[in-house]
Amino acid sequence: MSAMPALFLSHGAPTLPLEDSPARHFIAALAAELPQPRAVLAISAHWETQRPAVSAAERPGTIHDFSGFPEALYRLRYPAPGAPQLAGRVAALLFDRGMQVDIDPERGLDHGAWTPLILMYPQADIPVTQLSIQPHLGTEHHWRIGEALRPLRDEGVLILASGSATHNLREFRANAREGEPAPWALEFGEWLASTLEQGRTGDLLAYRRHAPEAVRNHPTDEHLLPVFVAAGAGTPGVPAKRIHTSYAYGVIGMDAYRFD
Ligand code: ZN
Repeated sequence: MSAMPALFLSHGAPTLPLEDSPARHFIAALAAELPQPRAVLAISAHWETQRPAVSAAERPGTIHDFSGFPEALYRLRYPAPGAPQLAGRVAALLFDRGMQVDIDPERGLDHGAWTPLILMYPQADIPVTQLSIQPHLGTEHHWRIGEALRPLRDEGVLILASGSATHNLREFRANAREGEPAPWALEFGEWLASTLEQGRTGDLLAYRRHAPEAVRNHPTDEHLLPVFVAAGAGTPGVPAKRIHTSYAYGVIGMDAYRFD
């Protein structure tokens, strides 16, 4: 079995599965580029807890954790089976690194997890579970989670981290536009790409100090934290690859990365 990459995807607006966009086309074609996973572990910006939690739900529900969107979006379901055994494995791997982990018996999939998955694996036949993030614990904590999860890549598990390369919703509401990305968003997106691809881990972990326009692009950093999990799961010394770049509404970076 060839090792799975770890992925970071930007999920954009909840309407990702419904609206035509370059990112939607990219995500829909992505599974063909990957080995077939045995299971998926999603890490989404939309599940925040005090300490890591992993879902052991047998049949995770589809959580419509948004409001004010078209009715068709609320009718979408992602009925993939859960992965309780994988949840136990995730908890054990984190426990081995000294982290306490909660096992949630019921948690379903939020839109950060199911909107990319419904495009990648529309048959919903690959078991999936979800691991939470801890924004108050910062970048290094999420990197260490990724390191702990790295063995899963050799066990046929796709680590799917889902957030947003840039994510300022206030600017989105005020300045949403078609066409060229806003310069301040593009500048951050290019810094992120070069930092990841050159493996400048120290700069990455301290991105709020080093990256141009960091706070403007991530007023809070829950949508960037999943990238640290995916990057930490990459093999040391193997360069990250940006596999997609585009901007939604000129300000929401939709970039994607793979970590082999
Ligand atoms: Zn989101």
